[in-house]
Parts: sequence; structure tokens; C-alpha cells
Amino acid sequence: MSEEKIEEKIGDRYSRQLLFAEIGAEGQRKLAAARVAIVGCGATGSALASLLARSGVGRLRIIDRDYVELTNLQRQSLFDEDDARESAPKAIAAARAIARFNSAIAVEPQVADLIPANADSLLSGCDLILDGTDNFETRYLVNDYAVKNSVAWIYAAAVASYAVTMNILPGETACLACIFPQSPRGTVQTCETAGILNSAVNLVASIAATEALKFLVGARAKMRRTLLSWDVWSNERAELAAIHPREGCRACAGDFIHLAGEGRPHITLCGRNSVQIHERERPVDFAELSVRLQPHGNVRHNQFVLKFWREPYEMTLFPDGRAIIKGTTDTAVARSLYARFVGS
Ligand SMILES: [Zn+2]
Repeated sequence: MSEEKIEEKIGDRYSRQLLFAEIGAEGQRKLAAARVAIVGCGATGSALASLLARSGVGRLRIIDRDYVELTNLQRQSLFDEDDARESAPKAIAAARAIARFNSAIAVEPQVADLIPANADSLLSGCDLILDGTDNFETRYLVNDYAVKNSVAWIYAAAVASYAVTMNILPGETACLACIFPQSPRGTVQTCETAGILNSAVNLVASIAATEALKFLVGARAKMRRTLLSWDVWSNERAELAAIHPREGCRACAGDFIHLAGEGRPHITLCGRNSVQIHERERPVDFAELSVRLQPHGNVRHNQFVLKFWREPYEMTLFPDGRAIIKGTTDTAVARSLYARFVGS
């Protein structure tokens, strides 16, 4: 296709956005040249990815450790019932969904849990990082990486009817650790107890995606310099100034304890009655393992996951050896199940 033809097609697809003067043709070209990482592709990540992909951000790296389940479909807008039936990894399902509405952009799906050991390889080369995670541990890791490497990132979270977001421009604004030196976990509800409204998710994703567009087209001065919270049910809104780094902030002073951490050998997953077993790379041959597991329970696999049911547990295994074990929050139980059926 000639250069002209491509320009013409871009003009068609993005015509309504090109008419928005703050973006225009020059902004659209900047979006097409950008690469954005989205860490976590659940509810918020789905909405962020959808908005940015439709806006024409040229490359999206979607990082997610999980697979699609029926309970996700209430709010995780990139997925459908087929994805849930095949337990498709969310990163893969997201890439497939995006290809159906914008095949012109490149999606780089990464089925992985972001941990200190892989942060460099998963996040390098991105102009901006967006938060679609559901936990502060990962957010502190992203914050460390972003501050250390001077990469902008946008914190975004939603729980119940409450949405909260902040832009972090390292060296310029406050970082996440400036505002929350310690995880607010314990003082705020988690998805386990509070449930979540899909509208709170879409609100926070809309705000964060707009801030992302500003950043990518070079309209930094238009970006919000506050921690913004918004309860869509009570209509309470608050903004906390985040203009400058906080004096004494560990991350801003160059002490990256989360990036230096050992990672998480196995963890309990939010609201899921599940434990993740985080192996070092242990490539698994699904066909061979299926045969081995057959006498011990029900087993099924496709190219992305192997599922093994043994009452009262359900194990989902990824090709790199990582597993999510459902039916327990006891890491010792999950660990021994894994050791017995996959390997120790
Ligand atoms: Zn800081």
C-alpha cells in the first residue's frame, strides 16, 4: 500500500479524533509511534487497552498472569464466553479481541506475573506504563521500575464504587511511594469483600486513558498533578496535591526495595480462593503431563493452559510451569499439590 493510501485509511479510522484539535494529524502520528505497557488485564486493563487500541496507540504490551473465567465477564470488557470456556490467558484473549477491531496496531501479549526478576524484560522499551493490576505489591514494583528508569506511569484502581488514579512523572511529580509510603491494604477494602461496579472501572480507565493520550501527544502540561478519587455511588470526589516528590520518599531518593526484592514464590490471589505457584522457568509438555495426570483426576489442555481437576481443587497450569490452584488459600496445600502432580 502506498504511503498516501495508508494516510487516507488512518484519516478514515481516526477522523473523529483527528478533528479534536489537541490531537490532530501530528498527535495521531505520535500515538501510532508509541508503545504502552498495560500491567494487568482484568477490568481496568481491559478498558484501558480497548480505549488506547481504538485511539490508535501503535503498540500495546499487555502483561497478565491470569486466565478468563465467567465471573470476569461482568466488568472485563475485552473477554467473552468462549474465552471463559477455554480458560484463555487474558493477555492472549485481549490480543485476539483487539485484532478484531483494530488489526492495524501491534499487540504484544505477555502471559506472565510481573516480578522483580522479569520487570526489566517485560517493561523495557515502553514510553508509558499503565496500571491494570489489583494489588499494591505489583504497583510498588512498577513504581520502582518507573522512578529508576524515568518512565512515566499512571496509577489506576477501582473497588466497589470507588475509583482512584494518579499520574506519576518521575523527577517531576510525586510518585506512588510519596503518597503511600506503606500499602494502604488493611485500611481499604479489597475486591474480596467489597465487590466492584463496572462503571467505577470504566470511569477510572477513561480518566487514565485520557491522561495517557495527553502524555503521548506531548501535552504534558495538561496532565493532572493530583491524586484523584471519585465514588460513583456517593458522588464524593477528592483531590490531593501530588505536584512534587515528597521529602524523604524512599523511591525518589533511589532506594528501590521492591525492585530488589526476591519476588513471590507463591501468593494468594485477590478474591479468588486461589494460590499462585510461581516456579522458576519449568517448561511443561502439556500432552505428556495430560497422560500422566489422567489416572488422578480430570484433565484437559489446549495450547495455552492445562486444567486439572482433583476434588476439591482445580489447577490451571501455564506452559512456563506457573500454576494457579483454586479451592484453597493455604499456600502449603497448594505447594504440595503442585509438588505431587507437576514436580517439586
Ligand atoms: Zn516518591
